[in-house]
Amino acid sequence: MTWSVWLVPPMITSIFFVLGVITLYWSIFNWATSKAESQNKPVNVKRVQTIVGLVCAIVSVFALQLIVRDSHLSWTFTNFQLLLLIFVAYFLQVKIPYWAVFIAGIAFMLLNGNINQPLSWVYTCLFVLFYVFSYVQSTHLWRAPFTRYVVVAMAFALPLWYLVKVRLHLTWSTYLDEMINYFILVVLMYGYFKIQDKDRRIKDRLFQSANWDALTKVQNFAAYDRAIGYEFRQSAAHGRDLSMVMFDIDHFKRVNDTYGHLAGDEVLKQVARTVTAALKDADPKIILYRTGGEEFNIIFPNYTVEQTKEVAQKVFDAVKSLTITYNDIEIKVTISVGVSALSLKDSNPLDFYKRVDANLYHSKQNGRQQITVG
Ligand code: GH3
Ligand code: MG
Ligand code: MG
Repeated sequence: MTWSVWLVPPMITSIFFVLGVITLYWSIFNWATSKAESQNKPVNVKRVQTIVGLVCAIVSVFALQLIVRDSHLSWTFTNFQLLLLIFVAYFLQVKIPYWAVFIAGIAFMLLNGNINQPLSWVYTCLFVLFYVFSYVQSTHLWRAPFTRYVVVAMAFALPLWYLVKVRLHLTWSTYLDEMINYFILVVLMYGYFKIQDKDRRIKDRLFQSANWDALTKVQNFAAYDRAIGYEFRQSAAHGRDLSMVMFDIDHFKRVNDTYGHLAGDEVLKQVARTVTAALKDADPKIILYRTGGEEFNIIFPNYTVEQTKEVAQKVFDAVKSLTITYNDIEIKVTISVGVSALSLKDSNPLDFYKRVDANLYHSKQNGRQQITVG
């Protein structure tokens, strides 16, 4: 069925195609990041963008071209190729080695059956240059980004389309039509992508503030709760070790009472920073959570209680040797620590938490400044 039967002009189809690819990209991107977040895995946004974006772009360009290759209409999807190049290079800022873009261009010529045409080679070289320009300008914070974006997009499309026109003997009117369509789509893509990207940034910020503690910049109770739930299920399902450390700053109320609340805040910040550094040194996969006012938890997936005890000692020593300077006053603090491993008797994460907490309480009752393992 042709478009005239559907009464949908090609321009409208093009618009929906471009919006469709971007929407498909965002849907897969959101699905992938939410899945990783719910499993408590760190999300490498750039990596997800690269993989999802490339798959969407390559599949669309090659699949489309298969429909029209070898026909007198092999130029039909040229605009889509150009737009997808902009999408990958400019919007997703995917850094593909230039030679790889060139190889893709050659593969495209092979698919199209025009590898023996000199003009196709000129086209491919210009196409690679277009990629380079789009990528480079996207990674620089130059002024007037929209104007630059449109100028670069048009500056390359004009000669690229001219080459297509000459090689396939298209009329000037087709050339002009295609350039106008392309211009509209280029502008539309900018607007649509920016709207979606703004949404993503808002979502990121919400996720950030919901899971991170603003004062100490470590993850908060909500993040801890999700992580322990996930690790508990993983350990139960695969019979893996799981341990936990909980610590509380000794006589912290005195710090507040003696030096003021702001000094107390500074102590919290520096203790969190020191412990984070000690953990990073021991094992970068271990995460510190601020679960209460001056209480912190550390989850140790795949750690036996013995291994955990060693790291707990390092944390303990690091805090003990820390001197916090606040307004020329020097403050020293210590912590009381509880350590325990998951037991078969624990029917939920709270049972496990209670035992670690009981060990911390034992340290407090026994004179503070010590570690209780059990
Ligand atoms: P213990 O050795 O038994 O743990 O004694 P403590 O004084 O550390 O314990 P307590 O629970 O009596 O006091 C905790 C104090 O921590 C009370 C509260 O005002 C303070 N606190 C909680 N959150 C913050 C915070 O964000 N900033 C500051 N400066 N103080 C906080
Ligand atoms: Mg305390
Ligand atoms: Mg406390």
